Amino acid sequence: MPRVTRSLASLIRVCIAVSGATLSLAAAASPDPAPPASHGLDVGGIDRAVAPGDDFFRYANGAWLKANEIPADRSSYGTGAQVAELTAKRTADLIREAAKTSAPGSDARRVGDYYATYMDEATIEKLGLAPLQPALQRVDAIKDRKDLARALGAALRADVDVLNSTNFQTPNLFGLWVAQDLDDPSRYAPFLLQGGLLMPDRDYYLDPAAPMAAIRGKYQQHIAAMLDLAHQPDPKGSAARIFALERRMAQAHGGRAESEDVLKGNNHWPATEFPRRAPGLDWTVYFDAAGLAQQRTLVVWQPAAVTGLAALVASEPLDTWKEYLRFHLLDQNAGYLPRAFVTEAFEFYGHVLNGTPQQRERWKRAVDDTSFALGEAVGKLYVERYFPPAEKARAQEMVRNLLSAFAVRIDQLEWMAPATRVQAKAKLAALKVGVGYPDRWIDYSGLEVVRGDALGNAERAQLFEYHRNLKKFGTPVDRSEWAMTPQLVNAVNLPAMNALNFPAAILQPPFFDPQRDVVLDYGAIGAVIGHEISHSFDDQGALFDASGRLRNWWTKEDFAHFEAAGKNLAAQFDRYHPFPDVAVNGKLTLSENIADVAGLAAAYDAWRLTLQGKPARGAAGFSGEQLFFLSFSQSWRNKVREPALRQRLVTDGHAPEEYRADTVRNLDAWYQAFDVKPGTKLYLAPADRVPVW
Ligand SMILES: [Zn+2]
Repeated sequence: MPRVTRSLASLIRVCIAVSGATLSLAAAASPDPAPPASHGLDVGGIDRAVAPGDDFFRYANGAWLKANEIPADRSSYGTGAQVAELTAKRTADLIREAAKTSAPGSDARRVGDYYATYMDEATIEKLGLAPLQPALQRVDAIKDRKDLARALGAALRADVDVLNSTNFQTPNLFGLWVAQDLDDPSRYAPFLLQGGLLMPDRDYYLDPAAPMAAIRGKYQQHIAAMLDLAHQPDPKGSAARIFALERRMAQAHGGRAESEDVLKGNNHWPATEFPRRAPGLDWTVYFDAAGLAQQRTLVVWQPAAVTGLAALVASEPLDTWKEYLRFHLLDQNAGYLPRAFVTEAFEFYGHVLNGTPQQRERWKRAVDDTSFALGEAVGKLYVERYFPPAEKARAQEMVRNLLSAFAVRIDQLEWMAPATRVQAKAKLAALKVGVGYPDRWIDYSGLEVVRGDALGNAERAQLFEYHRNLKKFGTPVDRSEWAMTPQLVNAVNLPAMNALNFPAAILQPPFFDPQRDVVLDYGAIGAVIGHEISHSFDDQGALFDASGRLRNWWTKEDFAHFEAAGKNLAAQFDRYHPFPDVAVNGKLTLSENIADVAGLAAAYDAWRLTLQGKPARGAAGFSGEQLFFLSFSQSWRNKVREPALRQRLVTDGHAPEEYRADTVRNLDAWYQAFDVKPGTKLYLAPADRVPVW
């Protein structure tokens, strides 16, 4: 995950179902949250003037969309954001309580101290740049390329993730992901990813389109402003040189779609081969400084980029690299520096990149940052208060029903070869489903949290996380480890671990609510559960067998059928135009769109199973079937500012919420429920509907 300045501004994007993608705790929050509609459907949010078959998203949500504006401190707002807001508020209360009541040395105390220190702006103002001086002096002391390699190696962090949190961005030259070896799932391997850019993607540096060019101008102004605040000489000249260097790095980078291609990424390089394959960087010094000297083999995810970036380490002036490193230190740590730095960082990352007019209140950023540094320690406090065992049991029962529905679907697939079907069932049986929180918590006793040292706390937390990951080498792979924190409103499939995580925070209204008919739960969280299960069996899931080995377990014919179905769905999404000049990228979002359709279909089946042959109950003038689809669409309710939406269309593997909600048009049951006829805008002839599963 990017460091705090950007985790405030650009949202952490994960491989999720729910607009969770847009609504992690990192998402900005409104000052006075409207509570999410709970205990039933939001009937008042429906716009009956819209025909369901013309625009189902606006039919289900139109009145709400008209009545609500995106709060000034957010780049987007909707159901997920409301739930995240409530969760953040509860989490903040728990954290403040922990500071007062917990025993010294406990994880709860660490949480409380971390938060209180972040909140202590007076001390931060008083300290000024002093906490960053040692790091800046280390940059000043760089005398040659060996020193440079050492500095770059020491900056390596475990801040990227290829398959689980799908985070491909790191501000450091490279990022490390420690995960099971895709060729040998019994051991952990180090994965090295491209990095070094502060804007969200290479397109921001290279795309000639006018909006991108304008952002580039503002980015250079931002670099100069940060350097100026830190009293660096020649801020404008420096900014131009730093930008030019980053632009060359962007030219070496692979694009997002390429990074997501597992088959292109699984490149095992012997450590001894790096000097030959990627000359320019002193790799021995780099690996030594990074604590990776013992690793004989590393997986190089974007080989051309690693080669290109290493070459730049040799070819670009040493002084430019030093300017670059100083700016990155300032930028990445802006959240722990005096207000002027915080404001400038928000101006660019929040305002320019996401269109958010106003920064969130500090306490909300403090919750976010504490959750980032001590995620499971915060999560433990959260579930003790808000996720009782009865709720966990109820969610587990829903998961079982979804798994049963999915098993039936696999049995009924006509196109799948019998041998593949056997393996699919085996994979389903081996799926490890985590509900609410992990079985074992991370022990933070090795992390020193010092009152009054906000920047040092953040640095130590990142290093703690890095060393925690390095310690995995040589130990058995732990499939029970979570990729998300319990207080995150999100869900995820961990393909190589053949595991799912459903954090406690998404298991609450309006996704999941004990005080209403289960049909609404199946339409909302049920579709999320189905979405995550289906990832184990989609184009990505087909690449990993039950043990997590990268081994395509489908026959050629199975794959051909799946690809053909996928092409139709990609074409369906290519036709959506959020703006006249830009369409949804059907190929980039294909896996997620397949998971949405499959998840919704499995959730529908699972709900029918709970009826045990009895007719569905209706409510509020809607049939049970209508309630199911309305609940689904309302769970996707969301508004996004234009710059943020444009960013997502480039960098996000998920389609915008509106089109995800409209995927109901691929299910026959939706046509029956709302009597949707040919001639309406969402109508698809039966042959054009893409059920996939
Ligand atoms: Zn997904």
